Parts: sequence; C-alpha cells; structure tokens
Amino acid sequence: MSARLFRVRGLVQGVGFRPYVWRLANELGLSGWVRNDGAGVSIAAAGARLAEFIARLPTEAPRLARIDGIDSESGEVVGEGFVILDSVAGAIATAIGPDAALCPDCLADLCDPANRRWRYAFTTCTHCGPRYTVSRKIPYDRAQTSLAGFPLCPPCEAEYTNPADRRFHAETTCCPACGPQLCLLDAAGQALAGDPFAATLRLLQAGKIVALKGLGGFHLACDARNAEAVAELRQRKQREAKPFAVMGLNAAVLAAFAKIGEAELDLLRSTAAPIVLCPKGASELPGIAPGLPWLGVMLPSTPLHLLLWHEVAGRPRGTDWLKDANELLLVMTSANPHGEPLVTGNDEALNRLAGIADAYLLHDRDIVVRCDDSVLRAGPLFIRRARGYVPVPIALAKGGPSVLALGGFLKNTVCVLKGREAFLSQHVGGLDNAAAIGFLEETVGHLLGILEVRPDLIAHDLHPDFPSTHLALRLAEELGVPALAVGHHHAHIAAICAEHGINEPVLGLAIDGVGLGPDGGAWGGELLRVAGAACTRLGHLWPLRLPGGDRAAREPWRMALSALYDGGQQERIAGWLHQHYPQRDAAPLLTMLARDLRCPPTSSLGRWFDAAAGLLGWRDISSYEGQAAMELEGLAAVHQAWLPLPGGFALNSGVLDFSPLLAALLDAEDAAQGAALFHATVAAGLAEWVLEMATREKLAKIVVGGGCAMNALLMAALRPVLTAAGLTVLEARQAPPNDGGLALGQGWVARAMFKEMKNVSGNSRASR
Ligand SMILES: [Zn+2]
Ligand SMILES: [Zn+2]
Repeated sequence: MSARLFRVRGLVQGVGFRPYVWRLANELGLSGWVRNDGAGVSIAAAGARLAEFIARLPTEAPRLARIDGIDSESGEVVGEGFVILDSVAGAIATAIGPDAALCPDCLADLCDPANRRWRYAFTTCTHCGPRYTVSRKIPYDRAQTSLAGFPLCPPCEAEYTNPADRRFHAETTCCPACGPQLCLLDAAGQALAGDPFAATLRLLQAGKIVALKGLGGFHLACDARNAEAVAELRQRKQREAKPFAVMGLNAAVLAAFAKIGEAELDLLRSTAAPIVLCPKGASELPGIAPGLPWLGVMLPSTPLHLLLWHEVAGRPRGTDWLKDANELLLVMTSANPHGEPLVTGNDEALNRLAGIADAYLLHDRDIVVRCDDSVLRAGPLFIRRARGYVPVPIALAKGGPSVLALGGFLKNTVCVLKGREAFLSQHVGGLDNAAAIGFLEETVGHLLGILEVRPDLIAHDLHPDFPSTHLALRLAEELGVPALAVGHHHAHIAAICAEHGINEPVLGLAIDGVGLGPDGGAWGGELLRVAGAACTRLGHLWPLRLPGGDRAAREPWRMALSALYDGGQQERIAGWLHQHYPQRDAAPLLTMLARDLRCPPTSSLGRWFDAAAGLLGWRDISSYEGQAAMELEGLAAVHQAWLPLPGGFALNSGVLDFSPLLAALLDAEDAAQGAALFHATVAAGLAEWVLEMATREKLAKIVVGGGCAMNALLMAALRPVLTAAGLTVLEARQAPPNDGGLALGQGWVARAMFKEMKNVSGNSRASR
C-alpha cells in the first residue's frame, strides 16, 4: 500500500499533537504511526483516505500547536492500525511550551457540579495550563515538573494513558483526589477556616489586600473600586504612582473603564492572556493609573482566578455566567517588594510580603520558574514579554553559532540563539539589586538547560559596569568562548533586523532613554547605518546636559532648566521657575552649567521629553522611569489640534536640534497644547532627518527602535510620513522595542561579528 512519511515542524510537542494525529488517522481508517523526534513530530500514514488526512492535518491542529512546516516523502507502513510510538531519544528540542489560559473544555469541567473537577483550581489538560513555569528541566514530562510529587489517582491515570482523552499525556493533569490543594492564611500565617474562595472574597470585599499565588509568581490583589484599599496598597508597596493593572471578568464589565477594541480583545482572549494597555473609558478608577490616559486590563485566565468570579456569581453551573455582568474588579499587581524579583515561594511570600498582605491564598504546586505578566499594546507592541510568550522562539532568517546574550541593565532579558531560532527569556527587570542579579543567573542557567545549549559566543552590552556584562565575562571565561561587546543602540536596531530577517544595510533610528555609545558618550537619539556587525553613527540629537548627572534623568525640572540655559533662554529661567516650581532653587544648577561641572551631555530623546514635561510645568520629579514621557503622550492624546511648530527644529550636518521648540513651550496655552505641539514637531523633525539621511545614504529600509518607539502618538505621526516617501518602516513586533529586546539584538550582532572574525582569519591564512 502506498504510504507517506511526514515531518511536522513548529510547536508540536507537549500540546496534544500526537493524540490529535492518532484520532484523525483512526477516524479516517488509516494505518501507520506518529511520534516525537528531535525536529518535531513524524508521521507515517497509509490508507484510502490519505488525501483527506493531508488536507485536514494542518487545519484542525490543537489549540496550542503552531505548525511551521510539513515536509512529506513516500514511505512505508507495516501492519494494520494506527499507533503512537515512543519518542525518539533526543526528542526534546522545543518541548516546553508557554503557559496558556484555561481552555473552554476545562472551563466546562470546572463549572459542572457533576464533574470530579467541579471548582478545582488546578484543572488543566493538553490544551491549557502551566508549562514553562512548572518545568525544572527537559524532557517535558511530569517527573520534571512541580507536579512530580503528586502521583496520578486511578481515574487521572486512565485519562493520561488514553489517546482518545484530551488529558492523554497532559503532564500537569490532576484532580481534587490526587493534585495540589489550596489554603488561605492570615497575615500571621495561620490557616483560615471555610471555603478558600468564599473567604478570600470576603476579605477583598472588606478592602483587604490578599496575596494570590498565580502561575509565574504572586500577585497582590485588592478591590479596584475601593479607593482606600488602592491607596493602602500603594502605601504598603511604596509605589507612589506607577500604574496598576486591573482584572475583570469580561470586556463588557471593563468597558466603562477601558476602551477595548477588536485588536485589544483578541490579545486579552489569546492563550497568552496578557495585560493589555487600553485607552481609559468614561469612568475612572481612582488611584489605579494616575495621570495616564491608559489602563492595563486583563481577564481571569487560570482556574484559581476564575473561581473568585464564579464565587461572586453564586457558583452557577455551566458557563453562561461568563458573559454576565459581575461586579468584581481586582487590582492585580506583581508581588515584588522594593523592585526586587517577583515572590514565588509560600514561605518566601509570608516573609517578603509581611506588612503588605493581609492574607495569602496559597497552594502546594511549586512555581519553578518566575515569570511576570506580559504587557502589550494593540499593534501588537510588547512592553514586557514574559508569561504566555516565553519560551516561544522568534524565527531567524538563518542559522549560525549558538549565542548567549546577556542584555542590558534596565528591563533586562537574556536571549539564546540556537540554529534558526532566538529564545528571549522572560522579563528579569532592573539589575540594581542582588536579588535581581541572582534571578538573572538563574534565568541563564534554566534557559541554557532547557535548550541544551553550550554557547559558542557570549554577547553583552558595551557598558563595563553592568552586572549583565560581569556575568557575560565570567561565563565566557568559564566556557572558554569569546565575549563580544555590542553597542546599546546597535543592539536596539539589530533586534528588529533579527525578527524581520533583514540581511541588508538599514538606516536605524534609535530613540531611547540612555545607552553607552562606542565613543563613551550617553547616546539615545541616533541615526545609524547598521549592516550586520558594522554600525556607523550618521547623526544624533543636539546634546542636552544633565546638571548633576544621572539625577537629572529623574528630575524633569533639571532637564528643562538645562535646555533653557543652553538654548539661549537664560533670561527666562527665573520667571519660568517662579511660575511652576517656586520651591526649587536654580542657583546650584546655574553654577554647574556655567562651569560645566557634573553636567555630562546626552543625545537621548527621552531627556528631551523630560525637558518638555518640566518646561510645561507638568512635572518636576519622576517617581518611576519614563513617567514624564508617558504623561506627556497622555496629555497630547487628548488635544485636538496637532500641527508642528514652523521652525521648531534645526538640522545641521546630521545634528537635530529642538531648542526652538522648547523655547516655544514656554508660551504654550496649557500643558496639553504644549504636549501636542511637542509631539507633532518632534515627529516632523525626526521625519525630515531620516528622509535626508535615507537619500544621502541610499537606504530604503528604516528601522525604528528604542524605548521612545513605544510612544504610539509619536510613531503614528512619524510612520506615515516615512512610508509616503517610499521608505519601508520596520518596527519591533515580537520583542519589546525597549531594553527588554536588547539581548536579541546583541545575539544577532554577535553572530555577524563572529562571521567577520572567521572571514578575517580565513583570509589571513589564505594570504600566508
Ligand atoms: Zn484544558
Ligand atoms: Zn486524580
């Protein structure tokens, strides 16, 4: 009988793909086999309805599967029937998937009083549930996950071994008889009696703060409608103004507070179930996202979270209640005191969250891998890439040596390049404390382990003092491999080249906070020519000076004063300061500026945003990174008229200067009008700069990266001008454009450097 052999590539292991193939083949009366191997899944199939099998195989694949390609050739099938064969040794390449939102079938189980998983918070199957966050190492099977200590009971075992069941080889499956259990503890660690959901709900409704153990770490939750509870949470967490995310049952419930369009809804309902930033709606939740025009929202996507809403609804049977109105709206913020990594362990929670949480909803399924919530805007635009996306690889245009890239200092992530795939780690965060540096090392070890990679190269930032650089140099020495330093903004542009498979020279517009340039300067507003390992600076923003150094980056009033001083507006400083910040003393700053003492220059666009916010009297001090720029974007968004200021910028020999614009902001009608004028003029200036340089350099592709590329208004004003002029504009879509994507770019550049090193040594050998 004629048979075909298929090789399926993509995310096809650990997602119920083999039983899916088995069921389809049996339905069509085929004979043959299916098994996991090193590259994915292979199938041999024969029978009269083989053509139908080929047609349906890619279209009816399970929820979490992603088929990248199917190769087929003629093969052979011996015997009758269709079987699932044992995996080939070494079949582990991409076996651990990301965590996924509860699937509709498990949801139905949860809400069925006759089902043995009625109201069971750890219900899962091959189509949903935790993966990455419960996996210690490969291969992905139960013994390597935190479910290892929960042997399956007979009914679960029967499901696990039955290919017709959706829990066939569901490595984290369990039930109330054999699986993890919940418990609710008070602030002193004493167990609270009663149903954990009912009791948790009572606490939340009474304005208490409850620590909830989620998938990749603990959340701190409180009633989002209770302004006092929110204020108390801010005070206990020492989080003055940084926005919180809110969880509500459905889009209809959230609609009063957030404008959720089609694109936002698709993201919210995706299997990754991220936090999605939406424009605020008609009603405001006090204290949740002060001063910002967006609200981060998410839907309950684990059984543990959903059961809280089920409790509010009165424990209804069936799933119709999910569409109903439901009053419960919770603040869900990462439990990471003092900016340290997220809390993951039970004892650790009682210890580190003491004084913050009033109670703890815990369970005995360990979180193996710490993983924050992902945050996106529609686009999609990643602000933070973590739970639900990691460790899904980003496809590369070509292969090369294995690289470990260690990222930067803020919003750190690491990246492993293996063959034609780049594995970007979850968000590690700012490396300004020992706990975060420990988390960085842990992440590197875990990622290399699950990918079975021993790197040929290690890449890091140019900055010699970053903990990520220190770790890179240490690992390179231990492994005896080269460590390659990559410029910060070169890496920003390269990250976008990597995800778009670019192999030709591009014009790179890096608009950013700050990063060390190869000349030792603080860069952040650069026009670069990037061609693989080569990066040439074609132009930069006119440098602003930072009076008092790094402190000026946190104090917009200092940037404003500096910009006025250097922009020829010295006589207006006193009047401006008196009007907006009468409590501030200009004298020490003026002395520093006059003598050029402790006033390092920076070409950062982020500092121009700070200067504008300071000038408009909007903000003198930022309480978190990027606050002034985000608020300025918010102010501009509500303003109607949006025209650039004529003569608002000057362009000389590749240097773009917005001093005329800043001077004009002193005469703005109000902060909103000034913010809109600032955005429109900056976009116009950047566009003219890019177009001039693209013509000069004969480059047709422009890559826009860096933290300021997250500014949706700026990009919406810039993009169409460049596109209309015939340029192809490339932006970050699969990784964050901010420092969270640096490691991807570092890895890509390191491969290009390595290739050049090899060519050079090859040529020199040839010439001898
Ligand atoms: Zn499921
Ligand atoms: Zn069981």
